[in-house]
Amino acid sequence: MAKAKNNTLKLKFDSARNYAPAPESKSVAKINPRYDLFINGKFEKPLSKKYFATINPATEEKLSEVADANAADVDKAVKAARNAYDKTWKKMPAKERAKYIFRIARIMQERAREFAVIETLDGGKPIRESRDFDVPTAANHFFYYAGWADKLEYAFPNRKAQPLGVAGQIIPWNFPLLMAAWKIAPALATGNTVVLKPAETTPLTALKLAEIIQEADLPPGVVNIITGAGATGAAMVNHPDINKIAFTGSTNVGKIIQKAIAGTGKRATLELGGKAANIIFDDAPLDQAVEGVINGIFFNQGHVCCAGSRLYVQESVAKEVIRKIKDRLETLIVGDPLDKNTDIGAINSKEQLNIINRYLKIGVAEGAEMYQGSGSIPSKGFFCKPTIFTNVAQSNRIAQEEIFGPVLTIQTFRTDDEVIEKANNTPYGLSAGVWTDKGSKIFNLTTKLRAGVIWANTYNQFDPTSPFGGYKESGYGREGGLHGLYPYVRLV
Ligand code: ADP
Repeated sequence: MAKAKNNTLKLKFDSARNYAPAPESKSVAKINPRYDLFINGKFEKPLSKKYFATINPATEEKLSEVADANAADVDKAVKAARNAYDKTWKKMPAKERAKYIFRIARIMQERAREFAVIETLDGGKPIRESRDFDVPTAANHFFYYAGWADKLEYAFPNRKAQPLGVAGQIIPWNFPLLMAAWKIAPALATGNTVVLKPAETTPLTALKLAEIIQEADLPPGVVNIITGAGATGAAMVNHPDINKIAFTGSTNVGKIIQKAIAGTGKRATLELGGKAANIIFDDAPLDQAVEGVINGIFFNQGHVCCAGSRLYVQESVAKEVIRKIKDRLETLIVGDPLDKNTDIGAINSKEQLNIINRYLKIGVAEGAEMYQGSGSIPSKGFFCKPTIFTNVAQSNRIAQEEIFGPVLTIQTFRTDDEVIEKANNTPYGLSAGVWTDKGSKIFNLTTKLRAGVIWANTYNQFDPTSPFGGYKESGYGREGGLHGLYPYVRLV
C-alpha cells in the first residue's frame, strides 16, 4: 500500500517535468550482509563482538551491518599501523610507495560505477553526483598524491620531510569516499600509516576501499579501516600511539578533539563547519549567478561544509534574483537518488532530517518568510524540500548556525563594505562566493572576506591540486595541493 502511494507521488512529480524515470541499476553493487574490521590487511571480527546496521536513507531499508569497534579494536588497528610503519612503509623507497597509491587510483577508476552506486545507496546523494563528482575526484586525489610521493624534496626545498608515524583519520558522512581519499592519499604519499574511521551512517564505500587496498596488494597494516560511532572516534583520538589526528566533522566534535589532544604532542588538522556567504552584485550575469547559488546550496542536499547557505544579493537586483531562484525551485527534481534525473536526493539520516526541520520551524518563528517549490517529495525515506528564507535578519539563528541541509537564507545589501561586514559576521570562515562582472570587486572582496576558499563567478569547484580549509570555527590545516602535504610531515 505504502509502495503504491509512493509510486503515484513519484509519477505525478516526474510527469510534471516530462522526465521518464531513469534509474541506475543496483546490480553492480556487491554489498555483503555483514562487514568486519579491516585490520592488518584482513577483515577481522571485532573484539567488541558488536555490529550495527547501515541503512539506505531513501528507502529506510537495511543495506548491511558493520562492526562497532571498541577501544580494544582501536588498539589492535593502531598496533597494526605502527608495525607496518616501522617494518615496511617508512623504509620503502618513495617511488615504490607511489606505485601502490597509483594502483589504488586505477582500481578505483575501474570500479567507479560500483562505488558510485554504493555511495548513493548508503548516503542518499544523487547518482549523478556520486558518479560525476565523488568517485572521480576521489580517484584524482590518489593520482595527485601518488605523484608527490617521490618529489617531496621539491615540495620542501632544502628540507627533509619525515613522516609523523600513525595517522588517525575520522571522517563525516557527506562525502564518505572522497573524504577517505583526501585523508589517506597524502598520508601514504608522505610515508605515514593510517587508521581511518568512516561515519556511522556511511561506512560502506570505506569498506569497499579496503577491498581495493587488498587488491592493490598494499603491505598489511599500512591502511586499517575500522567502523563505529563517536566512541570509536574518541578512542582513536585518545590512543597514545597515534601521532596525528585528521578530522572532518562538526565544530562541536572538533572542539572536543582539540581539548583531548592538548598537551599530548599529537598533531591535528580540523576541517569543521561553515556558513558561507554567496554574494551577488548587480553587475553579475544573473542567470549564471542563480545557477551558482542553486548549486552552492542544493548540491548534496546541502550536506556540504562549504555550502553557500547565506545569499547576499545587491538590493537593486534582489527582486529579480529571488524570482529566478523561485522559478528554479520549481524545476528541481527531488526523489530517488538512484534516478539519473534526480537533482536532490535523500537527507542522510533521520536525525539530520529532524535537525533541518527544527531549523525550518525556528526560521518561521524568527519571522523570516519560508518558501518551498510546489513539487512533492517521497513519503518514505528522509527527504526535505529545497527551501529558501527571505526577510532574514543577520541575527537570526538560521543565518548564523550551520543547518547542513537544503536551506538558503537570502538577505540584501547596498555597498561593498556592508556586504563584507555581513559576510564576515559569522563564527565560521570556510568558504565564500562572489558574483560580479568586475575584477576589481573580486580582488577587493577576496582580500577582505575571512574564508579559506573563495570562488569567483563559480561555486563548489574542487581540484586535488587546490588547498581547502578554514579559519575561525571552521578549523585549521589545509587539505589538497602541496599545502595538504604539510600536516603529514616533520621538516628537518
Ligand atoms: P556530523 O555533524 O557531520 O555528524 P560529527 O562531528 O558528529 O559530525 O561526526 C563526524 C565524525 O566524527 C564521525 O565519524 C563521528 O563518528 C565522529 N565522532 C563523533 N563524536 C566523536 C568524538 N567525541 N571523538 C571523535 N570522533 C567523533
